[in-house]
Amino acid sequence: MSERLQAPRGTFDVLPEQSALRAQVEEVARRVLESAGYRRIETPAFEDTDVFRRAVGASTDIVQKEMYTFEDAGGRSLTLRPEVTAPIVRAYLEHGMHKLAQPVKLWYLSSCFRYERAQAGRYRQFWQIGAEALGSDDAAVDAESILLLHTILAELGVAGMRLRIASLGTPASRAHYRELLQDHLRRHEDELAAEVRERIDLNPLRAFDSDHPGTRTVMAKAPVLMDHLDDADRDHFASVLGMLEAAHIPYEVDGTLVRGLDYYTRTVFEFTSDALGAQSGVGGGGRYDGLAEQLGGSPVCGMGWAAGVERMLLAAEHLPVPEPICDLYVAMAQGTPAERVQAFALAAEARSAGVPTQLELAGRSLKGQFKQADRCGAAYVAILGPEGIELKDMQTGAQESLDTSAAVVAHVLRGRHADA
Ligand code: ATP
Ligand code: MG
Repeated sequence: MSERLQAPRGTFDVLPEQSALRAQVEEVARRVLESAGYRRIETPAFEDTDVFRRAVGASTDIVQKEMYTFEDAGGRSLTLRPEVTAPIVRAYLEHGMHKLAQPVKLWYLSSCFRYERAQAGRYRQFWQIGAEALGSDDAAVDAESILLLHTILAELGVAGMRLRIASLGTPASRAHYRELLQDHLRRHEDELAAEVRERIDLNPLRAFDSDHPGTRTVMAKAPVLMDHLDDADRDHFASVLGMLEAAHIPYEVDGTLVRGLDYYTRTVFEFTSDALGAQSGVGGGGRYDGLAEQLGGSPVCGMGWAAGVERMLLAAEHLPVPEPICDLYVAMAQGTPAERVQAFALAAEARSAGVPTQLELAGRSLKGQFKQADRCGAAYVAILGPEGIELKDMQTGAQESLDTSAAVVAHVLRGRHADA
């Protein structure tokens, strides 16, 4: 016998009960985002590898270790998307969306792929809901984007929510700061983790992310980017904070906030939840005013975020599992060929009238059929027999004889409206 195959490590099947929960997350996100003028976009599951190499940054963990990159039969290097912001900016440029009214506001629910150490809340295929606003550098875009994610998380009942926020400034102020930080790191080189030491030139900011005790001591005394912003960046950041306050969104300014992607400028933020363990990040994002140029386009400002669907579900502790709806179960007294055809026709008629209907499909005894109708949560059971149709109201137990299938459908519809 050959070995029984399983889903790959770090992936999971979304089973029906989970699927119903995920549909609720999608529904809340859709309502909140579309009410604010965001429209859904779908990009391909894979892109030219360059889209991510150029956008996410060659020195990041994502590009260095986490991408599923492969060569197709035509010899092209393709990568399963590890994130969706870069593909959306690519699409904005490709479709000339600068000709539309700005900002262009887009949202998505897409699968992402990262080769990571699989554990609770960290998978190799996972789903992100995200929102991107392209074409405006107004601080209100930043504040609104953050507010929308806050609203979604609050509506889902995410427990112990915290918002940390910072500004990374513009590339110019960041370049100046980078040098200050590199000087500081070089002065303490022998106290740093090897991994951090190797990245002083390439990506010194990542040193803030290290768990290494020596590195942490060095970083506690490191210069902070927020103290080196230019006036325009400082004003922009102050406006964002002022609007968050006006919307009563609590936040903590955290100058050590480092995001795992290189493309951010100015505002960056992250929502965490106490309900999650080590993987406490629920969602985050920021402004990326230089990204379009990195992808070879004209300059386009952008601001957005992504939130993990699985992390939101882990953190939304009391999300109720919705019950499937069945208004009518069609049963057969004897299961003769004629009854079976009649039952099939009744189910078809009921469904086209909009009644959620299930049909006996397993040749059960009448008793077994009632049990099954109960499991389905059926409001009514129609029993087809030699004497006609009996309709039983499962809540009251009342039973009625009806002549035609049309009468059954009308009765069930009436009952449903009475319930509603
Ligand atoms: P982390 O610090 O947890 O690795 P990240 O900074 O890599 O997160 P982002 O790239 O900003 O995360 O992605 C946004 C969100 O996507 C995260 O806040 C998280 O909810 C989710 N996410 C990221 N990686 C994974 C993963 N491997 N499995 C499940 N969800 C993930
Ligand atoms: Mg990560």
